[in-house]
Amino acid sequence: NLIDPFDFIIFGATGDLTMRKLLPAFLRRFHAGEFTQDARIICIARSAHTPDKFRQQVRQALKEFAPDTAKDATVLDRFLGSVTYVALDATKPDSNWDELKDALKDQARTRVYYLATAPALYAPLCAALAEHKLITRATRVVLEKPIGVSLKTATQINDGVGRFFPEESIYRIDHYLGKEGVQNLLALRFANPALEKLWSSDAIAHVQITAAETVGVGSRGAYYDESGAMRDMVQNHLLQVLCMLAMDDPASLSADDLRNEKLKVLNALRPMTPDMVRQNVIRGQYTAGRIENKDVPGYAEDLGHDRATNTETFVAIRTKIRTSRWGNTPFYLRTGKRMAAKTTEIVLQFRPQVWPIFTNTPSPGRLVIRIAPDEGLSLVLASKDPGAGGFRVRNAALNISYENQFTMEYQDSYERLLLDAVRGNPALFIRRDEVEASWRWVEPILSSWRQGLSPLEPYPAGSWGPASTRALLARDGAMWHEDMLT
Ligand code: NAP
Repeated sequence: NLIDPFDFIIFGATGDLTMRKLLPAFLRRFHAGEFTQDARIICIARSAHTPDKFRQQVRQALKEFAPDTAKDATVLDRFLGSVTYVALDATKPDSNWDELKDALKDQARTRVYYLATAPALYAPLCAALAEHKLITRATRVVLEKPIGVSLKTATQINDGVGRFFPEESIYRIDHYLGKEGVQNLLALRFANPALEKLWSSDAIAHVQITAAETVGVGSRGAYYDESGAMRDMVQNHLLQVLCMLAMDDPASLSADDLRNEKLKVLNALRPMTPDMVRQNVIRGQYTAGRIENKDVPGYAEDLGHDRATNTETFVAIRTKIRTSRWGNTPFYLRTGKRMAAKTTEIVLQFRPQVWPIFTNTPSPGRLVIRIAPDEGLSLVLASKDPGAGGFRVRNAALNISYENQFTMEYQDSYERLLLDAVRGNPALFIRRDEVEASWRWVEPILSSWRQGLSPLEPYPAGSWGPASTRALLARDGAMWHEDMLT
């Protein structure tokens, strides 16, 4: 499984993402023996580091963010031997492009450019690469999210990059697709035909998709305040999870077969009118509260501002998918910062019995798919209560924890995705039409908000969001997972 030597060029290499995720992911895969020191990781940013000074910075970052692997000094030294640095301003035609050209003499190698800069730089950067004749036939480009902040800006970026790279060489990353738990949705659904029989409005009353964090905005406040939860989480990660969960079976696991099915889901989402936004979307922002027995500040204080801005740190959405498979099942999407627990999970609530024959009725059964932490499944089914006199039923859960089932260590999403980009496997990356379809659905919500149609509702840190979030489900006679008894 050893990958042939490749050149991986990271623009934005002194940034948070490179230090915290990309280089640690490469170190772990290097340690696992997937590539050798002949591979080159060429790091680029404007800061005037020498390669040695940059490697010192990387060494520190790896000790912090990949401590288990970095403690092996031999591996760390050998890995750092494949890392180099070129100081270059990607917006300046007369910057240090010649040094990069020299480093990239070998035209036959697989070459991957990873753009971990602000998205506004993606198109100019690709133009500069073309101008300096740095794009070979074996070149791919990886684009970090967000691809734009609207349909218009996403289209501009896609057009700008598409002028220099064919679509099959453009890898738009969504690290949720690199998560084992998200990929496992494919196995769960399509390798278990019996389960797939339940996968429709016939058996499923509603679906909840939750991505909740306990952390606040941390050091990325300036970015987050421009973006908000809708652009940061819903437009990309939550909609991708929804696609994997709701799509029809693809003809194969090839990139285009998968993406065609995902695209159909995005196109089938019921479009939002301003009235529907008012009734089906909740936007919130955290105030001070308590998490894990510690007082935590509100959003404004986290940002270092005197007054809160109008940015949402929480979104809950009720939507429908207009297909015969799903038409009668509401889908609830929810994401937020500073919530009561850190969890990414999917809940499929089964329909209740039509004619109850038991004296008591527990809540209908459900399948809970935990994506993180502790990937696993929980199937909650009604059983006879063995202790009770007469015939009572109560719910009991069958639990599977993947960590206990499989001894293999889980890879971080970036480990999988970076090497997929090197190997030329785009299946877990997003195609242009998917990005644009997602924006097309999200945009009317953002535009209603801009018109002030949905007030920003406060929620205390450590809660499950604004109080109205419960009412969103109560309308359908449903409740959020944390409110279900067993
Ligand atoms: P960041 O910390 O602000 O880093 C930006 C990087 O770009 C720095 O290395 C900066 O270094 C470099 N840069 C800026 N202008 C440049 C230019 N003209 N030429 C060359 N390099 C330039 O940002 P980040 O958090 O790492 O995020 C990078 C991208 O990934 C963004 O698109 C972000 O939305 C996305 N992303 C980040 C995360 C995350 O967890 N951080 C997660 C998902 C997606 P110099 O100042 O030295 O030039």
